[in-house]
Amino acid sequence: MTPTPVARRPWHPLHLLLILALWLSTLGNLPLWGALWGLTETHGLRTWLGLIGFGVMVLAATTVLLCLVVWPRWRKVGGLVLLTIAAANSYFMSTYGVVIDPTMMANTVQTDVREVRDLLSWSMLVVLGLGVVLPGWWWWRQPVQQLPALRLVGKQLGLAAVAVLVTLLVVWASFQDLASTMRNHKSLRYMLNPFNTVYASTRLVVGQTAQARMPLQSIGQDAVMARTAGAASPSPLIVLVVGETVRAANFGLGGYARDTTPQLRQLQASGELGYFSDVTSCGTNTQVSVPCMFSHLGREAYAQNDVPYENLLDVLQRAGMHVLWLDNQSGCKGVCDRVAHAETRELKDPALCADDECLDEIMLRVLPAKLAELQAQAAGGRPAAGTVVVMHQMGNHGPAYYKRTPKDMKVFQPECRSNVLQDCPAQDIVNAYDNAVRYTDHFLAQTVTWLKAQKRPTAMLYLSDHGESLGEKGLYLHGMPFVMAPKEQTHVPMALWLSQPMQSHLGWDKTCWQSQTRQAVTHDHLFHSVLTLAQVKTSLHQPQLDVFAACTNAARR
Ligand SMILES: [Zn+2]
Repeated sequence: MTPTPVARRPWHPLHLLLILALWLSTLGNLPLWGALWGLTETHGLRTWLGLIGFGVMVLAATTVLLCLVVWPRWRKVGGLVLLTIAAANSYFMSTYGVVIDPTMMANTVQTDVREVRDLLSWSMLVVLGLGVVLPGWWWWRQPVQQLPALRLVGKQLGLAAVAVLVTLLVVWASFQDLASTMRNHKSLRYMLNPFNTVYASTRLVVGQTAQARMPLQSIGQDAVMARTAGAASPSPLIVLVVGETVRAANFGLGGYARDTTPQLRQLQASGELGYFSDVTSCGTNTQVSVPCMFSHLGREAYAQNDVPYENLLDVLQRAGMHVLWLDNQSGCKGVCDRVAHAETRELKDPALCADDECLDEIMLRVLPAKLAELQAQAAGGRPAAGTVVVMHQMGNHGPAYYKRTPKDMKVFQPECRSNVLQDCPAQDIVNAYDNAVRYTDHFLAQTVTWLKAQKRPTAMLYLSDHGESLGEKGLYLHGMPFVMAPKEQTHVPMALWLSQPMQSHLGWDKTCWQSQTRQAVTHDHLFHSVLTLAQVKTSLHQPQLDVFAACTNAARR
């Protein structure tokens, strides 16, 4: 007698939801549980009770979420999406020590293919296999009972109500412990999968729709050149270099034990360059820092702001300057939308580019032609009162730091050549990172050399967008929410080089502008200081946020 195949009993839809909730709140949240476990050294009864209470709460809250969003038509797909979110978040949190908050989300949305390629690794494939493919395959194949629609809605909402009640009960019972843990360890709230992603994407979408609905707000409409350059005197050229992921701690000029900035040191020794040793960034990632640096709002107002404003470049252009943005990275994040701009990624210079990525010197290669183009386009109109060029570097963009230096400039060896940084000895990561800083030193010195050859007053201001963690406190890369970010991610280098003609043009005393480098400054100072450097007058200018205010006053006297 052959046994008749037993038909698998279809699942009750709510049971299936509970299984998914159980997976997500336990295995789907391993980094969170690891972090909570690591909070206390004594793992006594109280710790266990706390963890169990927290576990029940997470399970109940996840159940509420699933009951509200997972419905029959997209049940299978929805489950897969949630499994993927939990696994991918867990991988990035445990590999790089990042957390998932709105700015990290914005960064992820803007990430391009080249950056994703830098993040791919075998361990990532293993995590996705165990966290998505295996449970996803099981989830996909389970038969489910068809309940009448109204009955299912009633039952699912009923379960949600019970789960809400359980959540509230646990929160109430363990409120003291929970509240103090959450207060002392703010990053925990951004570790809870998949709520972190749901929260961050909602914030992002709401913010972006609010911005999209509003017209662009003009700023600095009264901007004019403080004085018009006479026909005899050539107009000034200012280069702003927006650095990437360079932290002050590894910058030779900032007192780092290793000489990562030998060429800038020479310029400093000859009295042409000043280094600002106490500079704090606006954000901890490119997505926040770059627009914030060029905004008139300053860090605190910028973080709250949903209104689309013009920026520093619009104001300079309005005053009559030519403005050009050269990008060797993932774009200007909206800053260059209304000024001339060019991306280097289409260039296939065999000496400087490979795999759609170019070394930063490519920008110097194209700069003369782009400036000539800008001049030609404006030929019919008024002559420029001056020119401002922004060069947006690839800099120390990680985790593949070793890709940022040409082969013949790798002074510090051996280099970490993996993008899973934990796989490398700490020193190898630092070696690869320091080589990239040394290449920025070379790039900046090359820029100065080029500027010196121009027959006009020239200046170069270098400022990094944010720092980087290289394994300190178990953290890698950057992007921690600003309030809890370690200094490695927010203390950035800034340097100013002024040509002799530029110093006379500005009328600044050398000891004056060089002594300004000792001030504590932030990204908030960039907007107002560049206005002064470019000699643009507007009522927007705030002297207390202008690092050169003292020198300008002295020059007037
Ligand atoms: Zn950046």
